[in-house]
Amino acid sequence: MQDGETGGTPPEDVRFESALPEPGERPAEPAPSESSEIPAPDGPKFDSLGLSADLLKAVEQSGYTIPTPIQAQSIPHVLQRRDIIGIAQTGTGKTASFTLPMIELLARGRAKARMPRSLILEPTRELAAQVAESFEKYGKYNKLSMALLIGGTSFDDQDRKLDRGVDVLIATPGRLLDHFSRGKLMLSQVQILVVDEADRMLDMGFIPDVEEICKKLPFTRQTLFYSATMPPEIQRLTEKFLHNPVRVEVARPATTATNITQEIIQVPSND
Ligand code: AMP
Repeated sequence: MQDGETGGTPPEDVRFESALPEPGERPAEPAPSESSEIPAPDGPKFDSLGLSADLLKAVEQSGYTIPTPIQAQSIPHVLQRRDIIGIAQTGTGKTASFTLPMIELLARGRAKARMPRSLILEPTRELAAQVAESFEKYGKYNKLSMALLIGGTSFDDQDRKLDRGVDVLIATPGRLLDHFSRGKLMLSQVQILVVDEADRMLDMGFIPDVEEICKKLPFTRQTLFYSATMPPEIQRLTEKFLHNPVRVEVARPATTATNITQEIIQVPSND
């Protein structure tokens, strides 16, 4: 077995309709559908998920009152250092579902030069920048250091940041491997890996890079893996690189996000 490969263990399923009421409880509201990103009014509150007071304050200041389903269902597992397969689209609150518990887990400990403590892989610069913004917003009361390794920015600036040591490294796969091959980065201290939007990585041809990166990471890391759909290539990747994952599904594969309205407009062929 190669470094970073764990062999597959069947995932433990977490689905919202599985939450059964206790005997004597009033009849439950209709269970949120798997494709719903609207927080359930009777669902858990942010302060029951295991987040510290500093994070709860940052969450409140972001204007969030109730966790979305993916947040409610995955944050406690991430805090327990479980691997996660999150089947969720953008718009479901999935970014906070991994950034919030990561800030909590990384709050103790210090980064060494060139050895990031966590790594988030994003398919595009724009997504990488959005995740960085989330870390800034939710991490305002925690002093975590962060670097973005994306194309279009100078290697020198990025190298300087890495030299100072980073708790959170957010990168696109190609740029990360460029830094690695130049000897500017070591991946031996990465405790948490996030692979975000894996199906987009597949569409963009990044899966070989993601596999190469996974093999360079410590075997004992925690892996949080997100994809809106689960085509066979992505399924294979989760079986290869995740260990006993909890599966959290908030949207059916290949359905449209519920916050997008689709319309068909017929246009005359001569238009
Ligand atoms: P994401 O799916 O992570 O791209 O998040 C989609 C949007 O939902 C972002 O604008 C977030 O700021 C927002 N958001 C995330 N969590 C919550 C929440 N619990 N309540 C309200 N809005 C949220």
